[in-house]
Amino acid sequence: MTKLTFYGGINEIGGNKILLEDDGTKIFLDFGMSFGKREEFFEEYLSPRSSNALGDFLEMGLIPNLEGVYRTDLVKLLGREPKPSIIAALFISHAHADHVNYASFFHEDIPFYCGRTALLILQSLNESKTRSIETEILDFKERPIRDYRMPPRKRKVITFRTGDKIRVGSLLVEPVHVDHSVPGAYGFIIHTKRGVVAYTGDLRLHGRRSQMTEDFIEKAGKARPIALISEGTRFKEKHREEEKEGEKQVMEECLGEVKKTTGLVVADFNFKDSDRFKTFYTVAKETKRKLVVHLSDAFLLKYLSRDTGLALPPPDDSNILIFLPKRKSGTYQEGDYLPPERQFYKYPNTVTAERLDQKKVILCFSYWKIKELIDIRPLPKSLFIHSLSEPFNEEMEMTYQRLLNWVEHYKLKFFQSHCSGHASEKELKEIVKRIAPQKLFFVHIQPPGKKFLQPLKEKEAEELKELVQKEFQGLAQEIVLPEYGKTYEL
Ligand SMILES: [Zn+2]
Repeated sequence: MTKLTFYGGINEIGGNKILLEDDGTKIFLDFGMSFGKREEFFEEYLSPRSSNALGDFLEMGLIPNLEGVYRTDLVKLLGREPKPSIIAALFISHAHADHVNYASFFHEDIPFYCGRTALLILQSLNESKTRSIETEILDFKERPIRDYRMPPRKRKVITFRTGDKIRVGSLLVEPVHVDHSVPGAYGFIIHTKRGVVAYTGDLRLHGRRSQMTEDFIEKAGKARPIALISEGTRFKEKHREEEKEGEKQVMEECLGEVKKTTGLVVADFNFKDSDRFKTFYTVAKETKRKLVVHLSDAFLLKYLSRDTGLALPPPDDSNILIFLPKRKSGTYQEGDYLPPERQFYKYPNTVTAERLDQKKVILCFSYWKIKELIDIRPLPKSLFIHSLSEPFNEEMEMTYQRLLNWVEHYKLKFFQSHCSGHASEKELKEIVKRIAPQKLFFVHIQPPGKKFLQPLKEKEAEELKELVQKEFQGLAQEIVLPEYGKTYEL
């Protein structure tokens, strides 16, 4: 018997947790953090308590209540009887938090499978971020932590690439690369006893490497799947109408703006998006500026530059400078920085706010780093490029307004340019049509106009279902918007 059960990504963007059972073999496809659900109950200074192990996460519905899935130490701490693992493997589509973070709770005996590049990203996060129960993916410290010097317990992680065929119990899993706003993203074609189940992960057709998504569509289509699990992020979107449909356009626009600028250029973009990084790296080179990378982002470059396929520069590249923020003493002493950060401190290409030649750089600063502008004091005729999506919920609106206040305070010219990491509705229809599955399951999709912080109403879920069925009618024999925890037999 082949069955699918969905524990996340239902009527929400992200938090995918999909259980596939086949003839006694059970695997999970992704096990991500649901930002929306988490934000319903928690925020920055109100976070789930790690002292209660899994307790807070289970109580507030952030992870499903399952046996034989979670870490022995956390189950014990909860006062429950630990059980042997019932899951044969976790397949990770890509290294975005909403697809991978809650793998940190997984039973120590469950092997993780992910792309080689995804592993590099996870390694860089592991090295640069302070340990937290919500992000301990590649290794974890057994709770309760009695001695902080105790080394963490390493996970078994197996990397794959397109063309591999991975046997797990009765299943044969074929990962196929897809194009998304993070490198190392994959879809899966899974051969079960009943037929093929395909999973898109997150993908798009308008990126720099759309051929990779084409490869997935072609392979999935040829396999004549009985089921396709698809993302639907941009279904009936309203907030992203202004976005560009390609990285090339973003590059041309940004290049044009930077050429016109005589002062400082600040670029705010998602650093994990290596295509966007390359865009700004190229713009910097063409305008004879150097790209300034914040110290905390140097880790990602250190790891991703090891992937020859990506052709990214290492942090000591001649066109890159590493920005040292002011910490502790305020005088840039080595001891001011975290031990892992000190590896970059001795690099000859570090720069501080005071030594920055503003007319000759593009600063890669996300919102959280904007306070460094106080030391930099941008020159007149400086530019701020917002290369992210425009705000589409109340929390984003507030952050955005705060950002605009900084931009206004320093009299920076504001410029917006971005293209999405997700397929548009039109692209989604094309993907589904070409794959032509018998059953189509939508995850990573939410009702248009869903209110931030307000739990989904039954009526909204019902309306989304009707809308999706109407729009995708005829593209699959059956279209399903899965319900939480419900098992679907294939
Ligand atoms: Zn993603």
